[in-house]
Amino acid sequence: MALTTMGDQPLDRSVDSTSPGQEEAEAIENLVIVGSGPAGYTAAIYAARANLSPLLITGFQDGGIPGGQLMTTTHVENFPGFPDGILGPDLMDRCKAQALRWGTRLLEADAEAIDLSRRPFLITAEGRPIRAQTLILATGASANRLQLPSEERFWSRGISACAICDGATPQFRDEELAVVGGGDSACEEAVYLTKYGSHVHLIVRGEQLRASAAMADRVLANPAISVHWRSQVADASGDDAWMNAILLQDIATGSIRELPVRGLFYAIGHTPNTRLFRDQLQLNAAGYLITQPGRPETSLEGVYAAGDVADAEWRQGITAAGSGCQAALAAERWLSHHNLAVTVRRDNVEPLEVGEPKRTAISDEANFDPAALWQKGGFALRKLYHECPNPLIVVYTSPSCGPCHVLKPQLKRVLEELGGRAQGVEIDIEADQEIAVQAGVSGTPTVQLFLNKELQQQWKGVKQRSEFRQAIEALLPAPV
Ligand code: NDP
Repeated sequence: MALTTMGDQPLDRSVDSTSPGQEEAEAIENLVIVGSGPAGYTAAIYAARANLSPLLITGFQDGGIPGGQLMTTTHVENFPGFPDGILGPDLMDRCKAQALRWGTRLLEADAEAIDLSRRPFLITAEGRPIRAQTLILATGASANRLQLPSEERFWSRGISACAICDGATPQFRDEELAVVGGGDSACEEAVYLTKYGSHVHLIVRGEQLRASAAMADRVLANPAISVHWRSQVADASGDDAWMNAILLQDIATGSIRELPVRGLFYAIGHTPNTRLFRDQLQLNAAGYLITQPGRPETSLEGVYAAGDVADAEWRQGITAAGSGCQAALAAERWLSHHNLAVTVRRDNVEPLEVGEPKRTAISDEANFDPAALWQKGGFALRKLYHECPNPLIVVYTSPSCGPCHVLKPQLKRVLEELGGRAQGVEIDIEADQEIAVQAGVSGTPTVQLFLNKELQQQWKGVKQRSEFRQAIEALLPAPV
């Protein structure tokens, strides 16, 4: 793609004098978008179609996983255009593909620092500076925790912030489980967990559910769910291996009783992710970015907010997407007004179509390939575990687990980079329960690294690609 300016006047490429040699060499971005939920990707789609070649910093671990909260949701039934609903991670895959198709550039990393005291703005990611004329903050919000006295002790051993990610783990099968919260997330998770647990207790601190009527009706009509009104969790108890009860307190009387459950799932709302800019922009008392009413402009010209980071009230996928659109159009206008936009000229006026995502087939005797980089299922695992001379990565996933969705392409990329010197297998713990039990998996994603049938290392949750690569490389024979 070739670069061209939008207006007639020369570009303002001025930089301040703090480190001139280095910074003058840096390209100045038209627009950097921070965050990859529906707000970030919608902003990217609009800005890319405006030929602004936006750079989108997806985030990685700070403030949740790439794709945002929809990555930890199952069926999204209220996003227009999907009459039968769509899985949250699938919706985000589509948004991402659409943004890429129109020329968004992605940086799959956390933004580490944002300095709004100078123009162009300075963003640091992966340790390198990025200069931007305009900025869209779409950093979303992170799941809250209850901070129970025993929370750390039972974290991932009964207590989880994501029923959708962890519900399928063997320890929760046919056990009584509890969800705290009364919003859409709590109701959705309670219904979801009835698939795995023998009974689900929904712990609600108030006298009514805050969730949408359709979702609340579904919970109240489900005989596998009991709602405990005006109740709160005081603590959890168990043995060294796993939680086996919670202490349930009646808020009106203060009385406490033990409720035997093997799982406790938090769905108690979110806190906006503003750490990187909270001292530089105006926030409201609850910590949300303040924008002009109904508009994306923040307290600083050229900086726009989109999605949950500035929305304490609506917080829907569709409202986030709408605000992303507004933010991109506002940034485009601002760049144009100040004659700062450097637009790209497309070589292909019609970008290639994306098509449907490819799914890995489950390996069996007929299609197992001993040299394949990535395979799926128990058959492939047994074969490779016994016969593979290379380091073997095994990733345990569950069907609607968003973090698994994020992690798998990262692992595949590592294996591709290593050019066949290591291989990978994916195990769906819902389909292969026995394997998950044998492997001691207590949540997804879990990654295990084997060499010659020996477990070398294990990771829980999403980690940086470099961490896996270094661990595998340490097992490879030194080059001669
Ligand atoms: P909400 O903020 O809507 O609800 C949080 C719930 O947690 C409330 O019931 C709140 O109680 C309760 N709570 C908060 N703190 C505590 C605490 N310390 N102890 C006990 N309970 C507590 O968050 P959600 O994550 O449910 O939803 C966020 C947004 O996402 C909403 O706009 C929702 O509509 C949307 N959403 C949509 C979905 C869908 O359409 N598929 C799925 C999930 C979410 P109280 O009511 O008393 O304040």
